[in-house]
Amino acid sequence: MTNDVLIFAEQRSDQLNPVVLQCVTPARELAGKTGGQVVAVVIGSGIEATTQAVAGHVDRVLTISDARLEHYTATHYRTALRQAVEKIDPRFLLMPASFMGRDVSPRVAVACGAGLATDVVELTLGDDNALSARRPIYNGKAFGRVTFAADRLAIASIRGNAYATAEPGGAGATESLAFAPADGDDALRCSEVAKTGGEVLDVTEADIIVSGGRSLKSEENFQILYALAEKLGAAVGASRAACDAGYQPHSRQVGLTGKTVTPKLYIACGISGAIQHLAGMRGSKVIVAINTDPEAPMCKVADYVINDDLFNVVPALTEAC
Ligand SMILES: Cc1cc2nc3c(=O)[nH]c(=O)nc-3n(C[C@H](O)[C@H](O)[C@H](O)COP(=O)(O)OP(=O)(O)OC[C@H]3O[C@@H](n4cnc5c(N)ncnc54)[C@H](O)[C@@H]3O)c2cc1C
Repeated sequence: MTNDVLIFAEQRSDQLNPVVLQCVTPARELAGKTGGQVVAVVIGSGIEATTQAVAGHVDRVLTISDARLEHYTATHYRTALRQAVEKIDPRFLLMPASFMGRDVSPRVAVACGAGLATDVVELTLGDDNALSARRPIYNGKAFGRVTFAADRLAIASIRGNAYATAEPGGAGATESLAFAPADGDDALRCSEVAKTGGEVLDVTEADIIVSGGRSLKSEENFQILYALAEKLGAAVGASRAACDAGYQPHSRQVGLTGKTVTPKLYIACGISGAIQHLAGMRGSKVIVAINTDPEAPMCKVADYVINDDLFNVVPALTEAC
């Protein structure tokens, strides 16, 4: 085993997941301590832009390009990642804790006989050379720390915004590896990828989220949140109650059964703060609650609380921006 840190440079339609460049930050720390290199693996078909975007940040880039890898499938990507692990023989493998990361990381861990920690917010290499990972547990109510065995590959999926985006740096020499699917990989095929949410910023990509609850009462009323979001360059999120009522598509749902978000600013407009909602957003850097009920759980976790009617507050904020 080398001391290298391999990063899965996740992309879709040749667009690099921005969390990949955040993974470079802990990767450099680990490589700095162990004397290894930071190596990125880009998997897909037509991945030139991603390769270029990541090459300026790492020591080496491995590309596995094949028509069968155009769309993500768990089996093909697991096999490609296993190939990359066999080629580089790294001590650490980091990847974004995205939908793709959540899906593929346990499969790669099994395929490589590796340890896995998901949704990690901090990695520490101890004096005993053992890697430990801090990660939220119990829907984000507490943090747990897990320690990897030092003699086998350690895989960690990194939560978005847990680390700062790395500054450019590194030689980024590129080499390619031919894809060799395993028996049975073709059993799972992706025939179509349908984009939801149009051109509107996705909640997982936004630094600021303006989010609304059942109290918005209709899809039309959500327009006041979109007006504020436009001024702030923010995405619009929603509670499950608002999505179930049809006010917003489920692609905007934040929470346990929706998306996990960690923006710099989360403005919760008329959202009670049920534990299932908090599970998806309590990692936000700054939380603002706009709620008529000062006892609402959201007001307890918020950094700033505006106890007033959102239909007065939100337009006033938009006007002021
Ligand atoms: C298994 C499971 C999974 C779940 N997953 C999720 C999930 O992923 N995401 C999620 O959000 N929920 C989830 N839920 C549902 C969750 O329990 C709550 O029911 C839901 O979050 C409540 O949504 P809400 O806050 O919009 O509505 P409500 O609970 O009805 O709260 C409305 C809030 O708005 C305030 N309010 C009312 N009018 C105004 C006004 N004019 N101005 C300002 N404030 C006002 C009220 O004081 C109240 O606090 C899940 C539930 C279960 C059982």
